[in-house]
Amino acid sequence: MQTLVLKGKEAIEKGARLIASGEVVAFPTETVYGLGADAFNEAAVKKIFIAKGRPSDNPLIVHIADKNGLQGLVTDVSEGAKAVIEKFMPGPITVIMKKGKDVPYCVTAGLETVGIRMPSHEVAREFIRACGKPIAAPSANKSTHISPTSAEHVFEDMNGAIPLIIDGGECEVGIESTIIDMSTDVPTILRPGAITAEMLAGVLGAVKTFSGKVVVAKAPGMKYKHYAPRCETVVAEDAESAIKAYDDASEKGLNPVVIAKTGTCALLGGRTHIDLGNTDAEICRNIYAALHRGEKIAGYIICEHLGDKGVCGSVMNRVLKSAGGKIV
Ligand code: AMP
Ligand code: MG
Repeated sequence: MQTLVLKGKEAIEKGARLIASGEVVAFPTETVYGLGADAFNEAAVKKIFIAKGRPSDNPLIVHIADKNGLQGLVTDVSEGAKAVIEKFMPGPITVIMKKGKDVPYCVTAGLETVGIRMPSHEVAREFIRACGKPIAAPSANKSTHISPTSAEHVFEDMNGAIPLIIDGGECEVGIESTIIDMSTDVPTILRPGAITAEMLAGVLGAVKTFSGKVVVAKAPGMKYKHYAPRCETVVAEDAESAIKAYDDASEKGLNPVVIAKTGTCALLGGRTHIDLGNTDAEICRNIYAALHRGEKIAGYIICEHLGDKGVCGSVMNRVLKSAGGKIV
């Protein structure tokens, strides 16, 4: 299959035609690129799993263009869920609610709940509007690989496997949406993101953050390897350990690279590095592109620990998975 990469009106019109004919289409959002299909067309949804090589017990998020899109997708919308929707949608958040009866189980991986997201990215919203139906989509990468934040990243993973990539430039936020489960008694964050626990607590009073231990996988995706570059990746506690890891790896001929904040990069001497920028928003926006670049130019990636708090805490949630939890 030939994979087209198109921009603008032409891309959206072609994308909508493909979705209507039961195909999958990659599209930009403010978080990462998604790989979408008509959420009510089971055969089309199955193509997402095939193109990604994704296990079928890992559910997809259903994307809508506006609040009317919620109709038929969910039941029992709690006051808390309404408040979160009101405050944060459109934006980088996914709200888990009880699913409507017509939402196919292949979208929810057999669960009675469904994740709903309303992207703020104008191209995403125009695309969903043009399709005229909710779009089920996970990130548009091959299963376990780094999530895509540009059309080029999608092309690298999906060339030949999907008919169209809608190119909307680089993603502003840069990591996947925050997922909040509003189907439980206490709202629970299943995946941290740019909308932080503190921001959600401001609306909900209290939220539980995911403790890290998966007994019954509530967000089934959490039990899988994720966001992994093709080469070994580790997290360094600080600049000093990054330098030591770099020099050790160099000696072994591993061709290392350090990914770090601007301030740390200044301490690295002539060592190869990728600069993430300084602010939370820059670091979040740049992290996946840095990992993509790292695996291309190096054989060993050392990422600086970026902290546990706020947005950087969410970024580290991804980076620690990229590294398989390995800290040096
Ligand atoms: P991706 O953004 O590629 O990771 O794919 C969507 C993610 O949304 C999955 O990995 C799940 O963790 C999460 N998700 C989607 N629907 C649900 C749901 N009903 N309950 C819990 N998690 C969900
Ligand atoms: Mg993903």
